[in-house]
Amino acid sequence: MALDPQEKLSRIITIAFGFLAVIYAVVNFDVSNLTPLLGALLLFAVVIAPRASIPLPGTDIALTFSDACVYLAFLFYGGPTAILFAGIETTANCLYLHYRQGFKFQQFMVPFNIALNVVSFTAAYLIWTTLPTTRLVTATVGSAQHLIVTLGTISVLHFVIASSILSFIRAKNRLSEAYRNWLRDFSSRAMMHIVGAGLAALVYMLAIYGDILTAAISAVGIAIVYFSYRRSVSDLKRAMRETEAVQEEKAETERTLRKEAEVYAEELAVALESQERANLALRKSEQDFQHAALHDALTGLANRKLLHDKLLARIAKYRNDNSSVYHVLFLDLSRFKNINDSLGHTIGDKVLSIAARRFLRLVTPSDTVARLGGDEFAIILKGPSTASKAKKVAQRIHDSISQPFSLSGNRISISVNIGIAPADLEYTMPEEILRDADIAMNYAKAQRESVAVFTRDLRTRFLERVRLEMDLSHAIERGELSMSYQPLVRIADGKLLGFEALLRWNHSEYGNISPARFIPIAEDSGLIIPITKWILRETTDQMAEWRKISPETRDILVSVNISGKHLSSEDLVYDIEHALERSKLAPEGLKLEITESTAMDNPEFTLKLLKDLKRLGVQLSLDDFGTGYSSLSILHKLPFDTIKIDRSFVSGVGPNGEDSEILQTIISLAKNLRMKVIAEGIETSAQLSVLKHLGCDYGQGYLLAKPMTAAKAEAALYDGRSWLPYQTADNGTSTSPAEIDRNDISIF
Ligand code: C2E
Ligand code: MG
Ligand code: MG
Repeated sequence: MALDPQEKLSRIITIAFGFLAVIYAVVNFDVSNLTPLLGALLLFAVVIAPRASIPLPGTDIALTFSDACVYLAFLFYGGPTAILFAGIETTANCLYLHYRQGFKFQQFMVPFNIALNVVSFTAAYLIWTTLPTTRLVTATVGSAQHLIVTLGTISVLHFVIASSILSFIRAKNRLSEAYRNWLRDFSSRAMMHIVGAGLAALVYMLAIYGDILTAAISAVGIAIVYFSYRRSVSDLKRAMRETEAVQEEKAETERTLRKEAEVYAEELAVALESQERANLALRKSEQDFQHAALHDALTGLANRKLLHDKLLARIAKYRNDNSSVYHVLFLDLSRFKNINDSLGHTIGDKVLSIAARRFLRLVTPSDTVARLGGDEFAIILKGPSTASKAKKVAQRIHDSISQPFSLSGNRISISVNIGIAPADLEYTMPEEILRDADIAMNYAKAQRESVAVFTRDLRTRFLERVRLEMDLSHAIERGELSMSYQPLVRIADGKLLGFEALLRWNHSEYGNISPARFIPIAEDSGLIIPITKWILRETTDQMAEWRKISPETRDILVSVNISGKHLSSEDLVYDIEHALERSKLAPEGLKLEITESTAMDNPEFTLKLLKDLKRLGVQLSLDDFGTGYSSLSILHKLPFDTIKIDRSFVSGVGPNGEDSEILQTIISLAKNLRMKVIAEGIETSAQLSVLKHLGCDYGQGYLLAKPMTAAKAEAALYDGRSWLPYQTADNGTSTSPAEIDRNDISIF
């Protein structure tokens, strides 16, 4: 470390004074002093004294024999020799410290130390010579008084001057600081000089008065004191080193602990942060979970659970306060299944989302729109005050949904049937009002209306229907089903073509129920398939039997109605094959009637299926022709053997044959397609005459024969009767009673 200029200057000045002091000593040196003793003392001061120094622990001061050598030189040879001794012994000490102990001296430090010792001793000496006590030196040399005064004065002056200069320079010339430094080092430095002076006095006394023995004893004593002191100093140093080591260890432990604490604190902060993040994520996932639990994933609308909760609240509110009116709408998308089947589920999903958005646009934020599942939705309308106002809202929703739109290049048109259930005090649970809205929706669907409002009468009918469905599922095993047979007659000669098999249900409680009522229930519930299998078994067995009655009955056939549901099931071909095999009926003895609307629902599929059926050898008849919007381009491809003209075209023909144009058109169309024609619902002779005149092949109707039990039909077969009326009245009414076994319950 470089010295600051001020300290540097102070040192140079001291060195300069030291130089002057050495010149002074050299000039005043008495050459007669150069004796072997002086040489021995010099040797001791240069070689032994630096090695025998004892550093004082906790200070930068060492006790040496060097000062003792200087004071001895002074006592034996006077001031100038002692001044030179001071310079030499300091030089020797510095060199020893530097080369042996590895001590690094600062700039000017060695000459400064030498100069300081030389200057301070010179000053002490010069002051001593001016003091009145100098007279005492001339007193008996070696007397105790002489020694105490001389050495005391010299050593005190030497010590005071040396320590003052050093403190002053170290304190950078600041007096107060210098004083504090001086006080701090006072005791140790004073000790250094006192020990030096004491040793010098002791050696001097021995040299003057002592004999060899006393000198030896003293030397041993000094050696013992010296070594025990040195030892205690080294013990002290060791103790200090140990204390320092303990303290260092303690400090190290504290540092380690602090570091660990810091690391722990950091880890804690990281852990807290990640904990916080986890909490946030948990809260978010809880919210997401809650939202997912209450909303439909596809449309984002409320789900069944949320609808249930909201409805529960609405119901409770209305029960408390009649003025808080509400309406529940049940919505069912029509034709949605077709979209899903033909365009795929992705488009189907998009259609549902579009429908959901349209619903939301047409209601207020206080209303609730929910998806119940599939293509079913529900809306809680807060208000309106009356059912007719709710109906207007529903109508608007219907009109909006019915607007066609484009999706992935497809023009899509859907519609919706909506049932409305107004608030009622009888409702206590959401399921009740939803059930009634659903009933109204089903009614709207059955009536081909867009919107219907729930009434209790609808519920009665609905419950009846549910009851019928349940009863129908047990009707076969309970023996309540039977077949009725209605003759199909060749118009030209009254020859029997065969029978149409018509299902009858004699309900244990309600009696005969019209097919028009229970067939749709059977179709909706899927019961029509097992029932038709039963019918196929019954009728093929029956026909196989009847064909054996006579040669005239050998070629008759039975015509069985096949519903759309069964047509689209994969089992139909197998079921028919199985029935034919079982009964051993020739395939051409069985005809299948498929209504025009069913056949045209999916013409591609129908074509494939009909071909499969044709391969079995059975005959095919297109039922209720004229009601199903056939496309001629498709019709001519379908392998039907006969067309059955719907009853409505026949019944429209008046007593004098008016309104027969359509019949004429249909008959010529069938002929062009090379199909036979059967006219249904012939009730009057006029109708029969017209049909005969138009060249219609076959007829069926009350005029010819009502549907009859198997027993009656069998009896008629044995009779071999002609099926044309015996006479045809001019007024166009039949002589045979046209009792219609209709016991229609209004359809739902
Ligand atoms: P459909 O297949 O067109 O059957 C002819 C219907 O016309 C029968 O009614 C028959 O009784 C009735 N009918 C025949 N001649 C006359 C007439 O001169 N005047 C009037 N007013 N009606 C006449 P039904 O037996 O009530 O059957 C109604 C419909 O129910 C059938 O129409 C058919 O679609 C369906 N159906 C009847 N039985 C079955 C069956 O076993 N399976 C299937 N899938 N449907 C059946
Ligand atoms: Mg039929
Ligand atoms: Mg028909």
